[in-house]
Amino acid sequence: MATIGFIGLGRMGKSMAANLCKKGFALVVFDIDGAPMKELAAMGARPATSVADLARQCDIVATMLPASKEVEETMLGPEGVLTHAKPGTLLLDMSTVSPETSDRMHAEAAKKGMSAVDAPVGRLATHADRGECLFMVGASAESLSRVMPLLKAMGTTIHHCGPGGSGMRMKLVNNFIAIVLCQLNAEALALSQRFGLDILRTLEVLYGTTATNGQLRLNWPNKVLAGDTSPGFTVDLAHKDLSLIVQSANASRVPVPVAAAAREAFSMARVRGYGQMDFSSMVDALCDMAQIERARVPAGWKPPA
Ligand code: NAD
Repeated sequence: MATIGFIGLGRMGKSMAANLCKKGFALVVFDIDGAPMKELAAMGARPATSVADLARQCDIVATMLPASKEVEETMLGPEGVLTHAKPGTLLLDMSTVSPETSDRMHAEAAKKGMSAVDAPVGRLATHADRGECLFMVGASAESLSRVMPLLKAMGTTIHHCGPGGSGMRMKLVNNFIAIVLCQLNAEALALSQRFGLDILRTLEVLYGTTATNGQLRLNWPNKVLAGDTSPGFTVDLAHKDLSLIVQSANASRVPVPVAAAAREAFSMARVRGYGQMDFSSMVDALCDMAQIERARVPAGWKPPA
């Protein structure tokens, strides 16, 4: 049986690794934070002492790390996976990073006779908890078939988007819409509160028209509107993704004025101390700035079907 390495046991990675453990995969785990390593060890995973120690033991190494810098260091750095892995090892990066970082991972792996898959994740952290992730995969058909059992253990929907790097490019297209909708919802709900409109009536109207969207329907009633701003997906990570979107679009000579404006709204929220909160708390950041009372739904309230 193949041994799987998993690096990055944060809000997403811990649940994804736990699902692999529950489904019987032989797992070695590493994170710079010892606490989630202990939790995974209690479920049967083997904690590694370093990235190099993990790489030496595994046939497939998966990463779920914050951003490009951490993925480049961990996969490609002098003490990284490529330096210490066995020939034939497959690198599976599921973080959201720049397409150029994915391209580099594929190229460097190929030079060493290894293979790589970029498979960033769609949907919410609560989907990851339940093993219901959506994966956008960039890889050869052969590499995808090697990781398919892992992806199926962590998710329900797998899209092969094209060769190496295509998964990451698809993820930027997806997050462009998902994160800008968050900013749009924040502005609309702040305005509705300033107008003195009832929050439940506002939501009922929005859910009944084309103004509705996944963030407003699936995420917001359980998060910021219920007073829960724990992440989920942080304002810092959303800001990182919008920065990747603006950079990549500019490099490809596609103007994205809405993405640039939304990115700077997230910059303002970070300056005001919202960086580590769920990205739905953008409405709280905006209400703070405009000195508007925050809207909340009653405990247990469910959106109309
Ligand atoms: P997180 O910050 O909760 O987790 C990151 C983990 O990586 C932490 O446990 C941290 O200790 C660890 N880490 C950082 N540097 C490390 C290193 N050098 N070596 C080993 N471990 C290291 O982030 P998250 O919310 O789990 O997101 C992870 C990735 O998934 C990000 O790229 C994010 O954009 C993407 N993503 C997140 C969500 C979400 O809803 N949270 C959804 C889809 C995609």
